[in-house]
Amino acid sequence: MKLKEAIELGKALGLETPEEAINNVLMHSLNLFKYEDIPKELRELIADAKKQGIKFCPVCGAAMIDGKCYMKDLTHKKGG
Ligand SMILES: [Zn+2]
Repeated sequence: MKLKEAIELGKALGLETPEEAINNVLMHSLNLFKYEDIPKELRELIADAKKQGIKFCPVCGAAMIDGKCYMKDLTHKKGG
């Protein structure tokens, strides 16, 4: 999936930033793609987003907003 498609999908859901749109796709990939297509679709999306300067969390892989991972409460293990 291209970043543009992810953003359009996000807009339809009321998401305002590309990062939120990307994280929406990452979280709901099972509902959006055929199982066997998921790695390819997500790889394409992440590569496209990185090209446009979007940063991803080194811990959980979520798109970061202003250098912060706002998915961390959900995805980072506690106590480490
Ligand atoms: Zn994270």
